[in-house]
Amino acid sequence: MKTVVYAKGDGIGPEIMDATIDILKAAGVKLNFEEIEIGKKAYERGIMNGIPKESWDKILEHKVLLKAPITTPQGGGYKSLNVTLRKTLGLFANVRPCKSMAPFVASRHPQMDVVVIRENEEDLYAGIEHQQTAEVVQCLKLITRPGTEKIVRYAFEYAKAYGRKKVTCFVKDNIMKQTDGLFHKIFKEIAAEYPEIESDHIIIDIGAARIADTPEMFDVVVMPNLYGDVVSDITAQLSGSVGLAGSSNIGQKVSMFEAIHGSAPDIAGKDIANPSALINASVMMLNHLGDCKSAEKIHNAWLRTIEDGIHTADIYHADSKEKVGTRKFAEAVIARLGLKPEKLNEVSYDKMTPIKLPEYIREIEKREEKKLVGVDVFIDHPSFKPEQLAEALRAFNDEKLSLSMITNRGVKVWPEGFDETFCTDHWRCRFDQTNGKAVESKDVAKLLCRLAEGELDAIKTENLYTFNGERGYSLGQGQG
Ligand code: NAD
Repeated sequence: MKTVVYAKGDGIGPEIMDATIDILKAAGVKLNFEEIEIGKKAYERGIMNGIPKESWDKILEHKVLLKAPITTPQGGGYKSLNVTLRKTLGLFANVRPCKSMAPFVASRHPQMDVVVIRENEEDLYAGIEHQQTAEVVQCLKLITRPGTEKIVRYAFEYAKAYGRKKVTCFVKDNIMKQTDGLFHKIFKEIAAEYPEIESDHIIIDIGAARIADTPEMFDVVVMPNLYGDVVSDITAQLSGSVGLAGSSNIGQKVSMFEAIHGSAPDIAGKDIANPSALINASVMMLNHLGDCKSAEKIHNAWLRTIEDGIHTADIYHADSKEKVGTRKFAEAVIARLGLKPEKLNEVSYDKMTPIKLPEYIREIEKREEKKLVGVDVFIDHPSFKPEQLAEALRAFNDEKLSLSMITNRGVKVWPEGFDETFCTDHWRCRFDQTNGKAVESKDVAKLLCRLAEGELDAIKTENLYTFNGERGYSLGQGQG
């Protein structure tokens, strides 16, 4: 029999986990449950990421984790347990379905039924940050072809498995032409492989506004990590309570299922927390494990409980029938196992095909031709004017590399800048090929040596490449 590892977590975690495990057992699921310790107690024992070795071993052995929320300690060099689990275990897809249950749960959007699929490993969450000058810090936004192919393909496979009609991509590629541009380009490539599913894209700012205003326009939405983090909280809140939405974190080998809310320390230990989000996460887990019958049974019993007006305090309203605590809510779901909702749509998972997990196959022979054509050197200088800096830098031109542009915070300030542009101490100085002559990496190294000898503080460089002849870097704002 398959073993599922579970962690009771912190705050309301133990209460909602007990309720969920009771329901799973009452539904007769054919699973062993093994508890592991992660979170506050582990942090207090000095384990900086909150995950003891024995717990890692169990997760790696059994590969499925049902996790209650954790209280993340503030400061002190502690690492986020959630980010550690997601990135270390390669949990690339974060799936958050949010559906309105109006009129049984108050919601301004009775037709809402959205699934947010968030890339879970990269983007600004790569956590690569540096202070470079007294005035400027930087966070690297990494969007990769493998990461994007996997998440986008997973979104279409999810739509196929759950009979969804449309997948929408949220990006900001009008501004971030390289990073979000790659995400959008790959979305279009992969959408073409699924002609039976409608696809479109929307710029994230108007997309977030529309999803808050008319979520019924959307079906499955897929996006890079940070946008997905924000948008999925919006959709969870719109469905009535953060206490309702479950999520899955899917990897090639390991998967983790959890509530989207936190450990709610303000209501911990009072038997008033809504266990629905973790119950819904366990339904996602059962579908993932292929036990669609049990998933359907629990989900329908839960819908019937909500429909019967048995509500925890967070969703209780004038038309509710009974206000219950965490334990009583679980008992009510158990009493309805085998029943279906009468007014809400019942769920049916028996015809569901398993979601095909996308494999990324690196095709070495198809790699694009990469050519070095210049370098951006970032200089720390607090008092230069652009003209002065250009004057100083032009002395370092040689027969391979010549200064062509200076920007400050991305805006071109030389040649022909504007006096009005505000400048910091962080200058991006672009050196292009002199008269189109081929550049090698040793030419860049030589330039850096000359700058160092000239006592210019080069804090970082970015090589400029073309790939199959296409520019692989952005122009300065105001350039071109
Ligand atoms: P939170 O989600 O814990 O609470 C926000 C509000 O929602 C609170 O008023 C809380 O009472 C309410 N709430 C949350 N879950 C509820 C439920 N099931 N039933 C009824 N009401 C519920 O967010 P927070 O207060 O910002 O964070 C608390 C702690 O949780 C922090 O330490 C944070 O780092 C952690 N956290 C953990 C996870 C996770 O483990 N996946 C996710 C988010 C936050």
